[in-house]
Amino acid sequence: MGRLKRILIRREALEFMLGVSREVYPKEFSGLLRGTKELIVEVLIIPGTRAGDGFATIPLYMKPIDYSIIGSVHSHPGRDFRPSKADLRFFGKTGFVHLILKQPYSGIQDIAGYDAHGNRIELGVQG
Ligand SMILES: [Zn+2]
Repeated sequence: MGRLKRILIRREALEFMLGVSREVYPKEFSGLLRGTKELIVEVLIIPGTRAGDGFATIPLYMKPIDYSIIGSVHSHPGRDFRPSKADLRFFGKTGFVHLILKQPYSGIQDIAGYDAHGNRIELGVQG
């Protein structure tokens, strides 16, 4: 199986993650992604996520038992969507696609996709 190079985000999920990022700013929002290898369908916000402490604080024991979890999403309170070292450690534990949003959270250009190793994945919008 080759490395994932490209994935689509359903428009509703895209608008949701952008809106939540704007709403919680300057705190960070974190969630899990549901979908398939081709399409990110929806975002689950994890109960107990402590916004603002960075991404590594998501309590993994809270992860719902759901085999369609494909990865994670979180926002950065700035204009840099490169993953931190803590982000990269987390990526390796949960799923195969990870999104980071940066300010101003206005569209797909403010979102970067990464695989579990931190390699960029190209993003597109469906719908
Ligand atoms: Zn981060």
